[in-house]
Parts: sequence; C-alpha cells; structure tokens
Amino acid sequence: MRKGLYVLLLSGLFLLTVLFLHQVRQDRVQQYLEHASTLLQATYDASLERYALAMDTFYADLTRQPELIHLFHLGVNADNHSERALLREELYQRLLPHYQDLVRRGISQWQFHQADGTSFLRFHAPGVHGDSLAEIRPSLRRLQEQPEACYGFEVGRFFIGFRFIQPLMLNGQMIGSMETAVSFARIRQTLASLSPRQTFIFLLERSTVESVLVGGPQDRLQPALISPDFLLHTDSLNDALNQELPLETLRHSLAAQPGIRQQLKTGKPFATATYHQGTGYAVAFIPVQTLTGGLGGYILSIHPAPLLTGLQWEFYTMLVVSLLVTLLLGSMLLHLHQQRHAILVQKYRLDAIGAAVGEGIYVLDREGRTLYVNRAVSRLTGYNEQKLYQENLHQLLHQHEENEQPLQQCPIFSNAIKGITYEGDEQFKTRTGELLPVVVTSQPMIERGQITGVVTVFRDISDRKEAERKLKLLATTDSLTGLSNRRAFLERLHEEQRLSRRLGHPSSLLMIDFDHFKRINDEYGHNTGDLVLQHFASLARSCLRETDSIGRLGGEEFAILLPGTGLEGAVQLAERLRHLLELTPTETADGLIPMTLSIGVTTLHANDTGSSELLSRADAALYQAKSGGRNRIEVRN
Ligand code: GH3
Ligand code: MG
Ligand code: MG
Repeated sequence: MRKGLYVLLLSGLFLLTVLFLHQVRQDRVQQYLEHASTLLQATYDASLERYALAMDTFYADLTRQPELIHLFHLGVNADNHSERALLREELYQRLLPHYQDLVRRGISQWQFHQADGTSFLRFHAPGVHGDSLAEIRPSLRRLQEQPEACYGFEVGRFFIGFRFIQPLMLNGQMIGSMETAVSFARIRQTLASLSPRQTFIFLLERSTVESVLVGGPQDRLQPALISPDFLLHTDSLNDALNQELPLETLRHSLAAQPGIRQQLKTGKPFATATYHQGTGYAVAFIPVQTLTGGLGGYILSIHPAPLLTGLQWEFYTMLVVSLLVTLLLGSMLLHLHQQRHAILVQKYRLDAIGAAVGEGIYVLDREGRTLYVNRAVSRLTGYNEQKLYQENLHQLLHQHEENEQPLQQCPIFSNAIKGITYEGDEQFKTRTGELLPVVVTSQPMIERGQITGVVTVFRDISDRKEAERKLKLLATTDSLTGLSNRRAFLERLHEEQRLSRRLGHPSSLLMIDFDHFKRINDEYGHNTGDLVLQHFASLARSCLRETDSIGRLGGEEFAILLPGTGLEGAVQLAERLRHLLELTPTETADGLIPMTLSIGVTTLHANDTGSSELLSRADAALYQAKSGGRNRIEVRN
C-alpha cells in the first residue's frame, strides 16, 4: 500500500518535472518564433518599401515633365484610331529608355491606363492595348473613387506580383493612371539579399487566384499541403531544393501540425517550429495584403534554427536526467522503506518478546534517560508506560538504603556502565508506595563497541523473600510458645555480650525453671503441661520491654536477656514475673492450675570469654533457688 503511494508520488513528481521542462521549452521556442516572425515582417516591409520609394521617385520625375502627361492626354482623347496609335507610339518611343532602365532595376511591367481602367500602353507588351481592366482589377476601380498612389499584391490574368499605381493628374483631374509591377520572384530575391540564410516561399490565397488568373503563371502553382485554401508558388520550391532544405519533409510535417490551417485564415503573422532528423526549423508566416486591403496570401520564411535544435536536445537531455534522478530517488526511497520495514518488524518482535517475558526489562542511556521499558515493568510497578519514559526511572523505582543515591553511584547502573555485570537483591517502590523485593541483573548495552547505556532486568521475589522469612522464623522460633528457640536465643546472647562489652552497658540474664513440672504432666497429661508453658510465654512477654529477649532453652526451662539492665533491675523483673505467675494460674479444662518458678539471676561480665560461663553462673543461681526450696530467686554475680 505504502509502496504504491511512493510510486504514485514519484510518478507525479516526474510528470510535474516533464510538464515544467516542456513549458520552459515552449516559452523559449515561442520567444524565438516571435522574433523570427517580427524579423520576417521587417524584412518584407523593407523590401516592398524599397520598390515603393523607387516608384515614387520615378513617378515624381515623370510628372515634372508636363509634355509627357499632355502627350498621354492627347493620345487617350484622340478622335480616331490612327491618331491615337501615333500618339501612343510617340509616348512609347519617348519613354522606352525609362522602361529599359526600370527593367534593369527589376520592374517587369509598366503600363498606362485610361481613367476608366482601359489599358492604353503596355511597355512590356506594346501590341496589346484597349482592353478593359476595371472588371478584373479592383485597384483600378478604387483609384476612380480615390485618386491616390497605392501599392500592394495583386493577381492579374497573367501576372502575380506587386503593383504600384499612381494617378496621372491634369488640372486637378485624373486623366488616367500609371502602373508598375514587380514579380514575386523579384521580391523574393530582394528578401533573400536581406536575409541570405532564409528560404522564402509564396502561398497564394486560392479563391483570389482562381477567379482571376487565366494562364501563364498557373502552371507554376500547385496546391499547398498545409491548407486547401492556398496555392504554392513553385519557383521558390526549386530554390529551396537548391539550398538543400528538406522541403518536402518539412511541408509534410507542417501539414501535420494542427491549428496551422486555422491560423492561416486569420490573416495575421505567426511562426511555428518543425523538426527533421534532430534539426529544428523556424517557419514564419507573414500575411500579404492585396491592393484593396484583403488577404492575398502569405510569405513563408524557413530556416534551420540551431537554437531550436539546442532547445530540443536540452529538453530530451533534461528529460533523461530527471528520469534518472527520479529513478535514483525512487530506489533510495524503496531502500529506506525496506529498512524502515525491517526496523519496524524488529521493533514489533522486540515488543512481543518484551511483552511475553515475566521479568521487567528497562534500558537507560548514559544520562539515565529511558530508552525502553517492557510491559512487565508497568505491571510490576503499577506505573503506566508514559510515566516510565518521562520520569527519571531510576529515582522513580529504586529504593536505596540511604536516601536519594544518585544514579551514577547506584550499583545497578554504575557497574554496568563500567562494563561489569551486576546482580543483586534490591527493593523497588511501586506506584502505591509499597516496596517490591526484586532480584536485579544489569548489563552494559554495547553498540558498535561503545557502552551506550544499561539494560536492567528485574524479577519480583516477594514469594521467595516470604518463604525465606518463614524458614528463618521456623529455624529460630519454638513452635509451642512462639518464643526464640535455644539456638536463636544463644545467638542473641552472644551478640549482646559483644555489644555490652563494646559499649560498656550492664546487662543481665535470668534462668527460669518451673517447679515440679513433672507432676503437671503426670496429673493432667502432656497437653495440659503445654498449655501451662504457653500461658507462661504470654505472661512473660507482657512483662518485657522491646529490647528484652526471651527464649525457651528446653523443656520447661526459659531464659530472659535484659540488655541495659543491671542486677537490681533484673531481680525486680524476676520477682515480678515469679509473683505474676503465682497469682495467675493457667486456665485449663481441668480447672485453674497454679504454678511457681525458680529463677537464677546473673549479670554479663566483661571478662566472660563466651556464653558458657554466663550460662553456668545463671544455672548455679537457679540450682541454688531450687535447693533453697523453690518458688524463689537467687543471684549469682
Ligand atoms: P524440679 O522442681 O526439680 O524442677 O522438678 P521438675 O518436675 O520440674 O523436674 P525437671 O525440671 O527435671 O523436669 C522437667 C519435666 O518437664 C520433665 C518433662 O516431663 C517435662 N517436660 C519437658 N518438656 C516438656 C514439654 O514440652 N511439655 C510438657 N508437657 N512437659 C515437658
Ligand atoms: Mg522444673
Ligand atoms: Mg527443668
């Protein structure tokens, strides 16, 4: 799914790049083409202007010779045919040198018309005259309404080219007109002399040509491929072939371009680019105006344009480069995606493993920040995962013996960060404030040979601690009375001997034995005897301070250790105890059973080497109490 998204994204990116590159190329091509069409327009205008100017000068020269205008006037108005022929001949002869001069300058036709548009004299065909041209020459009709000089493109019956028409005036009256003409071929030559690297082709508006032209140039016209509305002047084609322009191919590729036909109809200048064998060609179209202001055709200029070729190559190169970049980006993204996927899989596995194990696992970095906690940490401590990540986990969980031990000194952390595995029993605080006994193992986390943190694993050992406590209790307690047993009491005695010797305080020991206990057993049974012992245990406990210790040394023999109590205090306590039992018989099913005690009292001596001397002094005092009649206290110091 995600992979599909990447592909879509990259494809979109590539598409955008292509569109951008295409747009940039289009803009630059357009700029160049606009330049090409402006240039053609300027060249065309300059060529025509050149002839127009020459014709104006020629006309001005003529009109400065009134006898010539007069001669024309006489000729036109001559009454009979022969007189008119004579005057025509005279005009012809006088102007022939001018005509020859015009021909040398590229003007192929010179003609005088009467005011009604009838041809009076053709210098290029002196034998043909008297034909009415007004019908087929809108320019002549226009001149009748508006006697002003004009020039432009016109299709005649036998001639296609540019005509320059000037009215011939006499006394403010238009008595006729003079017309010179330049062929298209001549204009093309002029254009070529101004822009030598270009090929110029003439496209003629078909309907205009077909309605007027009767012969002559018709065989030099052929249908234009790019539009059925236009004809092509073949003279220019031959020239183009000489210039090794792949004209046929270009004509076909232009014909295939959509929109050109439509543009040709607008009568406005435009340009387009076409390509052949990797070379770009600029093709500019300039509308050619007829003498009456209509669209007579187009002049095309075609030339190879290295800039267009360069732009084309640049576009394809950039296209390939961006494709490669996109592919590279794609492969990098794919690689990253695969890596991310692998990491995610690993993380899910780690999480699953972390969640599956009963032990709490957490990882801290070198600064003690939480990098990882598994589910068991939350379960065991009661904190939610977020809190464990946010807080200083060590401070939150670890209960030190001394308050607030810094992380760097805590053995769990400090050992592991030095590379030493630590294992030990510790206590963790839970959210509710309870202490949780745990066994902790911490190990350094090594990444690329560096210790980057500490991995700590801990396990709840409440059950084990409880079992240990119970075992210890069993091992040190007398099961009948709940008092310390002989071994535990002797240990305690031993410890007190060390303490009192070190600290120098007085301590005392009472040795207690029931009087005639055998009789109870004999009389009431062993169980009742036990009850008596238990009764004594609870009585004795009620008389003792927190720091005092009492133990059952065996049978019905007990001992009491009184740390910090001297002989006098010990005797007082012994007396109180003896008296209390005497006054408080044991309540049994067989009734109240009164009992008495004999007690030997002694104190701890600093020079006692062990407990045996102390115990034998107490025993001796007890023996003395027995032999002295029982239910009494004796002291041996
Ligand atoms: P004396 O006054 O000389 O001390 O006489 P006594 O009968 O008490 O003699 P002694 O101290 O020598 O005897 C202890 C008796 O206590 C022996 C035994 O039957 C009894 N005894 C010892 N342990 C227990 C016990 O756990 N339960 C009961 N019911 N009796 C015990
Ligand atoms: Mg006894
Ligand atoms: Mg005894």
